[in-house]
Amino acid sequence: MAGKIKEIDAMDFQKEVLDKELAVVDFYSTECPPCEALASKYESLSDIYGDDVHFVKIFRQENRELATELDVSGSPTLIFYKKGKVTGDRLSGGILRSDIMKNLDTLVGEEKAEELHKRIEAVETETDVLILGGGPAGLTAGVYLAQAHIKTILVDTALPGGYVATTHLVSNYPGFIEPQNGYMLSHYMSEQAKSNGVEFRVAVEVNQVDLEKKRIKIDGYETIKARKIIIATGSKPRPLGVPGEDTYRGNGISYCATCDAKYFQDKEVVVIGGGNSAIEEALFISKFASKITIVHQFDHLQANKEAQKKVLSDEKIEILFEFEPREFKKYDTMDMGVVVEDLKSGERKEIRTNGIFIFVGFIPNIESFGNKLKLDQWGYLEADEEMRTNLDGIYAAGDVKSKPFRQITTAVSDGTIAAIATGKELE
Ligand SMILES: Cc1cc2nc3c(=O)[nH]c(=O)nc-3n(C[C@H](O)[C@H](O)[C@H](O)COP(=O)(O)OP(=O)(O)OC[C@H]3O[C@@H](n4cnc5c(N)ncnc54)[C@H](O)[C@@H]3O)c2cc1C
Repeated sequence: MAGKIKEIDAMDFQKEVLDKELAVVDFYSTECPPCEALASKYESLSDIYGDDVHFVKIFRQENRELATELDVSGSPTLIFYKKGKVTGDRLSGGILRSDIMKNLDTLVGEEKAEELHKRIEAVETETDVLILGGGPAGLTAGVYLAQAHIKTILVDTALPGGYVATTHLVSNYPGFIEPQNGYMLSHYMSEQAKSNGVEFRVAVEVNQVDLEKKRIKIDGYETIKARKIIIATGSKPRPLGVPGEDTYRGNGISYCATCDAKYFQDKEVVVIGGGNSAIEEALFISKFASKITIVHQFDHLQANKEAQKKVLSDEKIEILFEFEPREFKKYDTMDMGVVVEDLKSGERKEIRTNGIFIFVGFIPNIESFGNKLKLDQWGYLEADEEMRTNLDGIYAAGDVKSKPFRQITTAVSDGTIAAIATGKELE
């Protein structure tokens, strides 16, 4: 095993972890993309901290009893130990290098951490194409570029897959007769890109982006210099800007039904919005919740007719037309409150509920790219038919780009075009 890491079994846990002054344990599994994303970070940090902290790996599938005893239910899970006692954060999922460092620094103490940080060497990597974003657009571009033997690095601030990875079922992606689990579809896409030779840097922090010099810095130490860049960073849910929204985001307020609806089995929720995504998502939530109140600013829904018919005939769903949310609150019992205003009368009332879902559209992920890129009136990147933006050698593909329809198929199409056009320019 590379780095200063020791692979152990449960029977050596006492000796190799609990009896050590300082230790960190990585419970990993095979066929686990987040474990693969963690592996190189864990290895490189073991080279820096490995003389002071004992780095250990445990294969979870073969050490289930120990994992259960330690309440480890997912891979990877990192646990930090000081003198046999669990300390710091328990990290899991797409683990950031900076989060591991923060916990290691606490273990070794401020002075030692400062000394160890000096050992971190800056790395400069060159590539033909750098893809920012590993959703369907970025992954497709990667497949095409790698198959054309063009050196390609794909950077994602999260794990690859984009929105598809969190979509419950995808029924409109060609080639599959039955609806596909979104997580598996995105997994196939990213494995395909990887097996064709795309280099992944995922679950990383992007510290600096210089589009004109085509350089980005990630995780505080690696600079990637590219000849071309494809921006495929997608979009994110638009916040409402209502008091309480920031405070309770992820703690009572959700933007993803696929991710969170399951927590509302037989509970009541409020859905904000009346467009396609709000109505489709409300219908999905109604499989779990006992009551859904939709708060919508207009006097009619803007969703497609089929979805409207379903939502209007769903007995669990009540719609407040011409109401807008004004404040979100949190309580001990019945959890959340939404103050809504009747737009006709101006009167306000409070709805008590267990959870709130907001679906009021999306905004492009472009905040780290400076202000030189040309945008459309909604803030999405302008690009020509071959996905070229106004900046030389910078392309845009997928949901981040200005276009009328945002679907997996349109993202895949953009990624294809951007890759072929980039390849031609590189020739
Ligand atoms: C709830 C929901 C359900 C959907 N269902 C369907 C469906 O059934 N069928 C369908 O065709 N479409 C569906 N869509 C739309 C579809 O998912 C999107 O059109 C598609 O995922 C867009 O792909 P993309 O690659 O452009 O962006 P995304 O899928 O959004 O991927 C963008 C990636 O970029 C990464 N990123 C963000 N910022 C940065 C940065 N600064 N640097 C590096 N990486 C970054 C993100 O982590 C992400 O992985 C759905 C969307 C949602 C929200």
